[in-house]
Amino acid sequence: MTDNRKAAPIRYGFIGLGHLGGHLATNLIKGGFPVTVHDLDRAAADPHLALGASWAESPAETAVVSEAVITCLPSPSASVAVVAGPKGIIHGLAARGTWIEMSTNDQHEIARLAALAKEKGIETLEAPVTGGVHRAAAGEITVLVGGGEVLFRTHLPAFEAMGGEVIHMGPLGSASVIKVITNMLAFIHLMGAGEALMLARRGGIDLARAFAAIKASSGNSFVFETEGQLILNGSYDIGFTMDLACKDLGFATKMGREFGVPLDLAAMAEQTFVRAREQLGGHAWSTMVVKLLEDALKTDLRAPGFPAALT
Ligand code: NAD
Repeated sequence: MTDNRKAAPIRYGFIGLGHLGGHLATNLIKGGFPVTVHDLDRAAADPHLALGASWAESPAETAVVSEAVITCLPSPSASVAVVAGPKGIIHGLAARGTWIEMSTNDQHEIARLAALAKEKGIETLEAPVTGGVHRAAAGEITVLVGGGEVLFRTHLPAFEAMGGEVIHMGPLGSASVIKVITNMLAFIHLMGAGEALMLARRGGIDLARAFAAIKASSGNSFVFETEGQLILNGSYDIGFTMDLACKDLGFATKMGREFGVPLDLAAMAEQTFVRAREQLGGHAWSTMVVKLLEDALKTDLRAPGFPAALT
């Protein structure tokens, strides 16, 4: 006799309901999973509670009622506190539970925390995402997964609920490495996009036409055609901050030293982003790195007809 009973959906905890994590958690809830949420900012959970999620007062309390806990946090120190702090998830998850790191984090830091989790019988997956907040909102963000095949298969339905393309990169650590690499490229592309638009502007080219021409040319990039629109609008509102950009470029240049790869462009980009963070603030959108050039040249890059936000 066949057993037609469907397995109950996995109970997830989700910690870190910010610009990105908020959308991922929403998609997980809409995907039909029972979700318990937690954030330092209680109000960040309002939309999720309205969709039926439960609230927990701490990472450990989140973990006690969950089979797997997802973290989407702004810094390695936040991940340490949430995973292994006094009220961390490793003190709440049962043995055979899973911690899933969706923050962009350092591969060695994830390995260190995964070893602490392993001592309690807890398994770890990493699943950093790429494509931007607008893609997360649309459920189309790319999910890069590192960790064991069986664990990956177990949580694939959740990744598919949160994102679009899901790529299993290999063992734990591999997804974080490629995530940092793709962000490094994005920041270099962003600075290139700013210089290109400024050359067009100073060269007397209509910026809307310059945008259309580059978008249809060999010089196009994902960053140019997405963030380029926000630069031309002047909102710069990409939903990703200078603090996060500096964090990720720090990971990239550290990796360059570790792997013995000279990163001329990334090192230069890192210095420019550090300058931008000091001048504009850590909470300024990373796209505003282009504003340094606009301010230095007292020439703006505004053009009519571009959206304030990406959809
Ligand atoms: P964010 O700063 O908007 O949100 C972080 C959230 O974590 C906030 O709500 C904050 O209150 C919460 N938080 C911080 N410390 C906490 C703690 N100790 N306990 C509980 N909650 C805590 O960041 P974000 O833009 O959502 O990014 C989160 C992660 O995802 C980062 O690692 C970032 O690099 C990565 N990421 C972001 C994007 C993006 O477009 N924003 C894209 C890809 C990857």
